[in-house]
Amino acid sequence: ADFNNYFLMNADEVISYVKEKTDFFDKDAELSCTEIGDGNLNYVFRVIEEQSGKSLIVKQAGDTARISDEFKLSTNRIRIESNVLKLEGELASGLVPDVYLFDGVMNCCVMEDLSDHTILRTALNEGRIFPKLADDLTTFMVNTLLLTSDVVMEHKAKKALVQDYINPELCEISEDLVYSEPFTDHNNRNDLFPANKEWIEENIYGDDKLRFEAAKLKFAFMTNAQALVHGDLHSGSVFVKEDSTKVIDPEFAFYGPMGYDVGNVVANLMFAWSRAHVTNADENYVSWLEETIKDTVNLFADKFLACWKENATDIMAMEQGFERWYLDSVLQDTASVTGMEMIRRIAGLAKVKDMTTISDSEQRVTAERICLSAAKQFVLNSGSYKTGDQFLKVLKNSA
Ligand code: ADP
Ligand code: MG
Ligand code: MG
Ligand code: MG
Repeated sequence: ADFNNYFLMNADEVISYVKEKTDFFDKDAELSCTEIGDGNLNYVFRVIEEQSGKSLIVKQAGDTARISDEFKLSTNRIRIESNVLKLEGELASGLVPDVYLFDGVMNCCVMEDLSDHTILRTALNEGRIFPKLADDLTTFMVNTLLLTSDVVMEHKAKKALVQDYINPELCEISEDLVYSEPFTDHNNRNDLFPANKEWIEENIYGDDKLRFEAAKLKFAFMTNAQALVHGDLHSGSVFVKEDSTKVIDPEFAFYGPMGYDVGNVVANLMFAWSRAHVTNADENYVSWLEETIKDTVNLFADKFLACWKENATDIMAMEQGFERWYLDSVLQDTASVTGMEMIRRIAGLAKVKDMTTISDSEQRVTAERICLSAAKQFVLNSGSYKTGDQFLKVLKNSA
């Protein structure tokens, strides 16, 4: 095959590609390759040499989404993903896969194989415990967010990054799927769980105050170029193993509000909690989840202030008490986004397995309403929650 002109590769072509473009395997190695992607947009191939056990991943972007040819998308997103993975690897070492190669012609990224890890959402739905999760994810967020912001970066260098990571099409997906459709269903594709349809129409679409807050948040998402956010930090973008956490899939990265990432992490832990709650999951698992929700907020805040103290450079960022004011605004955004993410994953197009695979209909109705009731409070009273305890209380009081 000719890899100087872009085309979508099949598994055999990926093997030839890897042999031609990398020296990861010996030239005469016997390789096998399978497509393992499970997302809506891209193709993910795993290439392995059975004999040595050596393996790698090739992620290729199509110029349409894999779910539908009508969904045109620039392949620029894989450039963003590759470069952001490298940058995140520098800022938060050990917490992302190694990138071996980015190819801007074939629009693919060759990276470390993490198949010995499990996708966090899958692991949570199996009730598995990961003691280091909150610690690792808060280190990842504080380092990638604060260190790419104007608090730390020289402002012209920061603006150059803002330009590098302009990501119009993927931002538009979030603008529609997170910030518009779950409140209006104007594209008529929200496909609500039938037993909750009326409740959602009344309590989400029918709540003028909530929709007004969503409008404000949409414009904040579009205009607050605060830090290089991951942009898709749900539990399907985190790989876990007993003693290891790796964040993948930053193709939605752009300069946006820090709280967008933190809120996504918190919301996705809350889906797991609601599911665990309605299905009477193991007590140890539930208490670990509750600690993890609290720790995510508290460790984020502690590490944020410590990282600020060590790295802030802007002269006005040194004003007394400014770091606490700034952190409080990030926590307010975190609460808002926690609510927005919980709403959009239930009342919007892209659902989460935590909810959709609850087989008992009444349990699913309850789990969805717990999330949506908590979500409304997070959006409507976003300024009221500054500690992990306060975040968790909103959730538990909704159950
Ligand atoms: P998409 O952008 O299409 O969502 P992801 O990057 O999330 O693609 O990858 C889709 C799936 O492919 C993941 O859920 C995971 O199962 C697998 N995958 C992705 N990256 C790796 C990796 N580095 N190692 C092992 N498996 C991976
Ligand atoms: Mg993904
Ligand atoms: Mg996926
Ligand atoms: Mg993706």
